[in-house]
Amino acid sequence: MSKSNHFSKKLLNWYDPKARSLPWKFIKDPYKIWVSEIILQQTRAEQATPFYRNFIQLFPTVGALAKAELDQVLKAWEGLGYYSRARNLHHAANYVQNNFAGKIPSTYKELLTLKGVGPYTAAAISSFAFGEAQPVLDGNVFRVLSRVFGIEAPINVGSSRKIFQKQLNKIFDKKRPALFNQSIMDFGATCCKPSEPSCPSCPMADFCFALKNKQIHQLPKKLKPPKKKIRYFNFLFLTSGKKLLIEQRTEKDIWQNLYQFPLLESKELVHEDFIKDNFRSNLNLNKSINFDLVYSTTRILTHQKLYVQIWAANLRKKDFTEKEGALWVNNSDLHKFAFPKLFDLFFNDIC
Ligand code: SF4
Repeated sequence: MSKSNHFSKKLLNWYDPKARSLPWKFIKDPYKIWVSEIILQQTRAEQATPFYRNFIQLFPTVGALAKAELDQVLKAWEGLGYYSRARNLHHAANYVQNNFAGKIPSTYKELLTLKGVGPYTAAAISSFAFGEAQPVLDGNVFRVLSRVFGIEAPINVGSSRKIFQKQLNKIFDKKRPALFNQSIMDFGATCCKPSEPSCPSCPMADFCFALKNKQIHQLPKKLKPPKKKIRYFNFLFLTSGKKLLIEQRTEKDIWQNLYQFPLLESKELVHEDFIKDNFRSNLNLNKSINFDLVYSTTRILTHQKLYVQIWAANLRKKDFTEKEGALWVNNSDLHKFAFPKLFDLFFNDIC
């Protein structure tokens, strides 16, 4: 028996459907599978579960999601990060309404036309919901293939995908696509884990390349990511009585469509004089107003590192300022707006 056949047989024998119970497992509803897969793209299953339940409760069908305002969807996504996932889901739900009469398409090829749905998600939806013979290739599967078959191509380089896909096609069980996909994903998540794989009890131990060649911690290979862009964000926590000033991020940039305090981006870490001069002129503020640095933190995003300072200032009624695109909101209404996670941390610490 070839190594590939050996692998498939052992994988399906190893699989225990009851071992890893998650709310999106064994469902056939393509909408729920789609939502779960999008959430799971950057989020671990344990963390994803309450978000998934809440999201499905708020938007139980693709029609309900399409009808919702984008702000509501972003609010439900608050805390999960990578907000483009939520924007794409909302866009694609409307696309389904307009182009597929409200029914999620059933083929891999059509699913790829939805914004935010790539080869992995299309394969997951088409195999789990519709039984189409499409193998999934996610981070878990990359790791398993790399270790078992000794594939050294770096997994974070687009051109490597073909190499992994070729090996995956050799082991894929076309007659039982959903079962195979679920098995290999669970195998990667629970047995061939990233840092401490369970090699002693692993069914692939007798033919695993990485185990035999002491390469477990060297595989899969990754190329060093490019250096992160450094940015300096200075926010103004501007209050007046029980109100505070917020604005929506509209540019094509991180946190698009989320809310924030008025922002000054600088080229380096800045001090009070810079803040005073710039916020005063930007917001037309009275010269007597003081600014206090109340919070500073750093945030590491996929391609950026942010140095964040939050300055506080308080206005009397007569200093009341207007700024195009900004809103004065009551403290008690803040929960209606979706903010990046760093603001939650700030509210928890300061307010
Ligand atoms: S032997 Fe270890 S490294 Fe190889 S597949 Fe099994 S768990 Fe992964």
